[in-house]
Amino acid sequence: MPGLEDLYREIILDHYRHPRNRGELPVPPAHTETGYNPLCGDEITLYLRVEDGMVADLTLTGQGCSISQASASMMSTAVKGKPIEEAHQIVRAFKAMMSLHVDGTGGEGGVQGEETTRSGNGQVKLGDLEALRGVVKFPIRIKCATLSWNTLIQLLDEAA
Ligand code: ZN
Repeated sequence: MPGLEDLYREIILDHYRHPRNRGELPVPPAHTETGYNPLCGDEITLYLRVEDGMVADLTLTGQGCSISQASASMMSTAVKGKPIEEAHQIVRAFKAMMSLHVDGTGGEGGVQGEETTRSGNGQVKLGDLEALRGVVKFPIRIKCATLSWNTLIQLLDEAA
């Protein structure tokens, strides 16, 4: 289905060329965390401000390949303005999508015992994030796609 793949490539390139929510936030009140993917040289720094149980603001800086930067941009638009609870659901659904067909090496440890990822695409709508589904076919790129998401998980824990 080349039509769909073209559309997906367009979405990823659009986020890479015109990254959303680029910038820094004053710390505090915001929290910040930097994630690295040495395999590819990707680097993402996130700034998160939580207010009233919501992701009040989320910005990022960083550099790296198109997948890592596009994924971070898409993540920021997906969770910004959402309740923390919903942000966690989106993270879980995305990581479930990214771990399809991957055996054993789910991530930087700690992922094994994670809750039911099976119903990942059940109630959470991933929208444009679906464009990154094709990355699963290239295991080396999965770390690029999940870098910003793993960094967000750390930040959400920190800011909670
Ligand atoms: Zn990369």
